[in-house]
This record gives sequence, structure tokens and C-alpha cells, in this order.
Amino acid sequence: MVKILKVGVIGTGMIGQDHIRRITDLIPSAVVTAVTDTNADNAKQAARKAADIKIFETAEQLIAADNVDAVLICSWGGAHEAAILLALAAGKPIFCEKPLADSQAACQRIIEAEVKLGKRLLQVGYMRRYDPAYKAMKATIDSGKIGAPLIFHSVHRNAGVPDHYKGDMAISDTMVHDIDVARWLLDSEVARVRVVGAKKNTRGGGLRDPLMALIEMDNKTLASVEVSVNIDYGYDIQGEVSAEKGSVSLGETNKIIVKSQGQFSGEILADWMLRFVEAYDVEIAMWAEAARHGGVTGPSAWDGYAIQAVSDAAIKSADSGDVVELNIGDKPSIYV
Ligand code: NAP
Repeated sequence: MVKILKVGVIGTGMIGQDHIRRITDLIPSAVVTAVTDTNADNAKQAARKAADIKIFETAEQLIAADNVDAVLICSWGGAHEAAILLALAAGKPIFCEKPLADSQAACQRIIEAEVKLGKRLLQVGYMRRYDPAYKAMKATIDSGKIGAPLIFHSVHRNAGVPDHYKGDMAISDTMVHDIDVARWLLDSEVARVRVVGAKKNTRGGGLRDPLMALIEMDNKTLASVEVSVNIDYGYDIQGEVSAEKGSVSLGETNKIIVKSQGQFSGEILADWMLRFVEAYDVEIAMWAEAARHGGVTGPSAWDGYAIQAVSDAAIKSADSGDVVELNIGDKPSIYV
């Protein structure tokens, strides 16, 4: 076990810098010692976030550095595989932001490399599992109080999205979180998926938005997902599991209700950073603690791979209008 975990960060854009702040301000047993980014300005900005952060030219140099015990990967999806394989080869614990990689084949190569090591070293950033409300939903299901779960309804609405949000990102960047939660709450892999587009939101500039997915799980439970990323009124995450003798839903996030002039109202959060701040804080703190002991917990490379497979199938379905079947193979024993 190391006393203070020395973390190297690859990719220092929005979420990378947020995680650096998180480690620096909230986690006394970890310190960011190194950064690298293909965008030199981002790397310089990130290096100013804490004392004694060294900037490396490449991910390879950062991973090999003596002052790096563990690696946090926050570059874009297409760059994840190369960095993960290097960090696995170096035997250093890894936190990789979602997606695990940008293709199923890349995810499989990562799994093969980790299985060869014989133990988990990688956690993927599906942070909703650390959100207190989702955790309470899961605990309610696991308690047996509402009976066996049957259907999970998930609603994922963003006020708007940035200019670079294009193509299939409503699925590959957004719906992936709902897919993760569906697998986790319903305790099953996905058997088949169908995605249908609705009348387009005119605020979306041609984007296929909103979308509805119907997901059938291997254990015969169902999940419905609405993704709507230009909804204007705020960031709104809803979820309900209906079960054999009860249901459990996420509560509203507003802390107060104002009653005035014959109406009552409450605040709707503006974005995902505000909605899931506690989840990110706990996620990174727990990763750092496990990494200090040389391992990892939390969502695994297998979860990353399974979600990628569903995301690819969902995109295929949205393109074709067909139901798309999944067959992701057997889970290696290190992930059981
Ligand atoms: P961002 O602001 O664009 O930051 C990404 C940074 O990585 C940029 O500085 C980029 O440089 C750099 N980069 C790209 N390729 C690289 C490479 N090969 N080596 C080193 N640096 C590289 O993006 P972001 O919003 O922070 O997102 C980063 C990742 O986090 C994405 O995978 C995203 O899906 C994920 N994310 C997850 C959540 C969540 O809820 N869990 C939330 C937000 C983001 P350039 O500027 O030159 O491209």
C-alpha cells in the first residue's frame, strides 16, 4: 500500500481538470503529480491546479514515470485504448472516463490484456452507481421490499448540448449512462434493443433527438429510455423501477419548494456536473482508496465492453428501425 497515491492524469480538458480539483481539494490520501495532453494549453492550465505537477509530452512517458502510482484517463474515447494498454502493462491502477474505448474490438483487447494480468486494475467512469439516489434505489430493490423488478423507466434530458455534440452521441455519449444503470439495477445483460426516433426537437439543429429505446434484458426484464438533449428547461434525470409488489423512483433534486401567489415551484438543476457532483466525488475517492491498495473496485472493463456493445446495437437499430440482438459472450472470471 502507498501512503499517498501519486496520480498521473492523461487528458486535461473539462472533466480531467474537474477530477484534478477533486483529488487536490477533497482527497488527502492522493495527489496529482503529472499531466499530459495533446492540447498544450489545457495541460498548462491543469498543471496550475496543484503544486508540483509535472507536464509530460506523451502518455507513455507519464505512465512510465516514477512519480506516478496510478493513472486517470480523461482524453477522448478514441485515445483510451492505447493509454489503458500501456498502464496495464506497467501494472498501474487505472481510472478511465467513459466510454471504455470507441469500439467493441478495442474493449475486447482491453479485457484480454487485463485477463492476462489475472486481476482487475481498471475502473470505468460510469458514476451513476455512486449517486446517493440511485444507490438508494438499488438498496431498495436488493432488500426485496418491492419484490422482483420487472421494468426500469429512465429519462435523460439535457437543456442543450455543445456544438461538437453530433451524429450518434445521443446514444454513444448520453444513453450509455442509462444502459449502465439498466444493467446494474435489473442485474442482467441486454438481450436485444430497439431505438426509435420521435419528431425531432427543432432546437437540435437536425440532430436525431429525442430518442426512445426499448431494451429487453437476458432475464426478461425490460428497460425504456428517453434521451432528449435539447429540452431547454434544465437537466432532468428520472428513473423508476416497477416491481412485482411495489415501485421505487428517484426523487426530485430541488432542496426547497417555494409557495407563492397560488403556485408552488422548485429549482431544476442546470447541468450534469451539478446533478452528479456527489457521485463524482465518491467515485474518485473510492477509486483512489482502492488504488492506494494496488487494486480497483467499481464498474469494470467488462461493464465498459457490455455497454459499448449495447450502444453499438442501439445505433444500428436507430439507423435500421430493426430490433438488434446482442451476444456479448461469457464474462471472464476476474469480472464475476
Ligand atoms: P475535453 O474537454 O475535450 O477534454 C479532453 C482532452 O483530452 C482535451 O484537452 C484533448 O485535447 C485531450 N486529448 C485528446 N486526445 C488525447 C490523447 N491521445 N492524449 C492526451 N490528451 C488527449 O473532453 P471532456 O468533456 O473532458 O471529456 C473527456 C472524456 O471524459 C470523454 O471520454 C467523455 O466522454 C468523458 N466524460 C465523462 C463524463 C461522465 O459523466 N462520466 C462527463 C464528461 C466527460 P484537444 O483539445 O486537442 O482535443
